[in-house]
Amino acid sequence: MTRPHASSQAPPLQGRLLDGLMELVFPTRCVGCESYGVLLCGTCRAALQPIDPVTACPRCGAPYGSLVCTECTGRDGRVPFSFSAARCAFSFNETLARLVVGYKDHDERRLAACIAGFLAEALPGAWLEWADAVTYIPANRAALRRRGFDHMRDVAAALASQTGQAFAELLAKGSAGDQRALGRSQRAANLAGAFRVAATPFARDMPAHVIVLDDVLTTGATLNAASEALVCAGVLEVRVATLARVW
Ligand SMILES: [Zn+2]
Ligand SMILES: [Zn+2]
Repeated sequence: MTRPHASSQAPPLQGRLLDGLMELVFPTRCVGCESYGVLLCGTCRAALQPIDPVTACPRCGAPYGSLVCTECTGRDGRVPFSFSAARCAFSFNETLARLVVGYKDHDERRLAACIAGFLAEALPGAWLEWADAVTYIPANRAALRRRGFDHMRDVAAALASQTGQAFAELLAKGSAGDQRALGRSQRAANLAGAFRVAATPFARDMPAHVIVLDDVLTTGATLNAASEALVCAGVLEVRVATLARVW
């Protein structure tokens, strides 16, 4: 359900009254089952399937292959990604899909903090110490126009404030179109030149270690193209983290 946003500029009392009024007119409902009262109820939270980092592939985040999965080693022994490691919080399932769609397409922007919380929980502590900056896969122009906000930007900013990381807007979208209807090889072709590195405060001195966030990792082609652009611009090493893994 679309819920208008209360102004963040409102003074505390006025803000609380406005929130109360909004709650009466547009009551909070669970994104998974539409029950009233919370954004994600306990039952739907329990229906999410966490990926155990102990058994997951460290290179692509798949929930198996703890010493690098067969997908990652099957091609002449070369790992097909320019990012060095991937961590995905959950296997993609129906509840996870509702969470992502509720956030991105039904404008429930309060889920940004919830999704950031899941990512923060999934990220190894060593990654947070290692990273110089957290960035995100920017939405393409059509999606940005349609939704009116860049969904992963809000998640990355929330994660940075939750974990104390530096938030950097390093990537800008190039010309590639929507990836969702494309197969593996079509995705790779579609992504040639998909990202450029945006002008940032780091322009002359790129951060050495960057974590790139996205919502879902399917073939890894999008995150690979983004990582390639960052490495070409001077980043030493890129690791990626996503809310969900499809395989
Ligand atoms: Zn629910
Ligand atoms: Zn793998």
